[in-house]
Amino acid sequence: TSSHELTGIVEDCCCDYKTVDTLNDHVLHPLLQDLVRAPFFRYFKAKLWCDCPFWPDDGMCHLRDCSVCECPEHEFPETFKVPSGQLPVDDLKCQEGKPQAMVDRTLDKKAFRGWMETDNPWTYDDETDNSEMTYVNLLLNPERYTGYMGPSARRIWDTIYKKHCLKDLPGDASTERRVLYKLISGMHSSISVHIAKEYLLDEGKNLWGPNPTLLYERVLKHPDRVRNLYFTFLFVLRAVTKAGDYLSQAEYSTMNSLEDQNTLSLVNQLVNNKRLQSACPIPFDEAKLWKGENGNELKSQIQLQFRNISALMDCVGCEKCRLWGKLQILGLGTALKILFSVDSNDLINQSAQLQLQRNEVIALINLLSRLSESVKTLHDLAPVTKNAMDGQ
Ligand code: FAD
Repeated sequence: TSSHELTGIVEDCCCDYKTVDTLNDHVLHPLLQDLVRAPFFRYFKAKLWCDCPFWPDDGMCHLRDCSVCECPEHEFPETFKVPSGQLPVDDLKCQEGKPQAMVDRTLDKKAFRGWMETDNPWTYDDETDNSEMTYVNLLLNPERYTGYMGPSARRIWDTIYKKHCLKDLPGDASTERRVLYKLISGMHSSISVHIAKEYLLDEGKNLWGPNPTLLYERVLKHPDRVRNLYFTFLFVLRAVTKAGDYLSQAEYSTMNSLEDQNTLSLVNQLVNNKRLQSACPIPFDEAKLWKGENGNELKSQIQLQFRNISALMDCVGCEKCRLWGKLQILGLGTALKILFSVDSNDLINQSAQLQLQRNEVIALINLLSRLSESVKTLHDLAPVTKNAMDGQ
């Protein structure tokens, strides 16, 4: 039995929990850890300036995001300015308060080439629009506890689940709607696992570590949230392997040939992995979807819903959460694009039809790595957490 006590086949997928845990522990997690550290995968381009289309009077979104020293000086209120000309670090916090919620924009000079400029139909951001985009080094900005909570955070999740009618789906709701719900819920579980795994235990001492109570309360206590995490992991894994030919022929140039060769070799180990292919050859079977009478109409509706969810990421009132929210939604949008925007019956032209942006591939692999890390954390911490809870 797996430590979170779920057994059997992951719902709507093709592999069982135990196989997923074993594959993840021994193959996927170590590979993905190396991959996301590669120079190519660690820089993500994001429009971080919060331009919330839904709640324009929200105070949270009024100020341009100047938490990381990017504002020109004239944008600072007079009272922020000190006579010496140099602003104390504390005064640079124009919004969103806590330092752990801010994005560190330190960047080394990198060049990328050989990638398409295409927009992703599943997301709200225009991926080809480079204005207002900032490159962020993800390694300097780990996804973890930021202190973002309360009505602003709650409103985003509530809007996603309630307004988009994703929760309490009636028994006759289509499989496709359930898939969308499970993808969002699985991503939500993963975010919660990362918060619990790297929690600020003591602010004064800047002490970080796991918070088993939080892990239990937010995720382990709810088997459906654990199930949805595994589902999302397998869904994204399927997208990565389906795009295998494309990914193994892509260019990972960052002008450092040794590192870039290593990146390509890791990508190949992931997409042509013999152990994965024999233990779980089709992690998710996308061919089953959109088969009903109104398949195309349903696809347009769900695409629009996903775009609206993507637009909500601009309303996330914590910069670092916005960064990871955008990355993971773009990663899911890329998985959806790979699985559903390419004709699965036309095997010969599949690679030719698929066009991905560099940023989409970076988001996809980083999302898979986040999910893999969450699955591993549950696997590792569940027994400890359970004992701690039983002892209370
Ligand atoms: P929440 O996690 O806010 O959940 C709200 C409600 O949704 C719950 O009461 C429950 O009814 C339902 N729910 C919870 N989990 C699931 C699930 N898996 N599936 C289905 N329904 C569920 N905080 C950080 O500290 N670091 C981050 O990096 C971070 N990133 C974020 C990214 C986004 C896009 C958003 C919207 C928020 C982010 N947050 C982050 C905030 C964090 O997700 C929580 O909102 C916050 O910690 C408050 O938690 P909560 O206990 O109120 O429950």
